[in-house]
Amino acid sequence: MDKTAKLYIVVPCYNEEAVLNETAKQIRDVMLKMLDERLIKDSSRVVFVDDGSTDDTWSIIDTLINRDSIFAGIKLAHNAGHQNAVYGGLMTVMDDCDCAITLDADLQDDISVIPEMVAKFRGGCDIVYGVRNKRTTDTVFKRTTAVAFYRLMQAMGVNLVFNHADFRLMSRRAIEALAKYPERNLFLRGMVPSIGYPSACVYYDRNERLAGESKYPLKKMLSFAFDGITSFSVTPIRLIALMGAAACIIAIAMAVYTLVQKINGNTSAGWASIMLSIWFIGGVQLLSLGLIGEYIGKVYNEIKRRPRYIIEAYINNDQGEEQ
Ligand code: UDP
Ligand code: MG
Repeated sequence: MDKTAKLYIVVPCYNEEAVLNETAKQIRDVMLKMLDERLIKDSSRVVFVDDGSTDDTWSIIDTLINRDSIFAGIKLAHNAGHQNAVYGGLMTVMDDCDCAITLDADLQDDISVIPEMVAKFRGGCDIVYGVRNKRTTDTVFKRTTAVAFYRLMQAMGVNLVFNHADFRLMSRRAIEALAKYPERNLFLRGMVPSIGYPSACVYYDRNERLAGESKYPLKKMLSFAFDGITSFSVTPIRLIALMGAAACIIAIAMAVYTLVQKINGNTSAGWASIMLSIWFIGGVQLLSLGLIGEYIGKVYNEIKRRPRYIIEAYINNDQGEEQ
């Protein structure tokens, strides 16, 4: 594969008015440099996906598109969430490009490695993962929870690229493969490695957020991690079975103990152990029920076959033009 690539950069944006102009400028600079070096085609684009923002994000995107045809925009009709916005962006541009890079709007990921990603694509890689060298700019809390999360996922047999988030290049054929995954609960960093096409990594240092607040507060982060686990692993179900077995063994021991006490005539000793068992078994049951409920909830969501996102507008000055 030697010809220049038609590259689309897909940027999910949720209430990003504080960073958008600067982000657009910096990505544009990288694009222009690659154009100069004939790495990418003139028809390459930066596509902003407005994920139902409630601030001025869309009007900024609109202005950018009018000012320079290198920019394009997709407006989702409601806030579909980061993963759905990325996925929706990829699905929308799939037929227009040779390869697409997904990138957060806050530029925490170093865009100067984009040319390296494109070079790897031209060298025959279908998927190029952006991998963070170190996370010194993240808070200690975010860092430790992230490491714990990767370890946990690995332990449960989910194939993840360590320290890779959603900064990656995918060839058109890899995106087409992704389109075949019918699940609604998206966890892209687990799904993409499971495609299996030739892949490579590029390494970079993670930066501070340019401006604005993280759109992933603790609550969203936990629910994302939990989604990742329950969408990809049956280990929690096995844990329930194990816990059930352990509880049974404890119950048998308790029964033997109670019987011995009774034979010895110490019957008044029974109260504490009974109370203990009731609470213990009750706790285990509740926990198990909650977990099973989580899976049933997933099944429910999948079975509804709801659209993952709804596009309100797609503006691209390149529509229908050349190849
Ligand atoms: N984002 C989105 N929809 C959401 C939440 C976030 O499209 O519901 C986008 C956001 O605009 C950003 C990216 O997802 O481009 C990552 O979000 P953020 O930087 O806030 O997460 P963090 O880096 O703190 O984990
Ligand atoms: Mg961020």
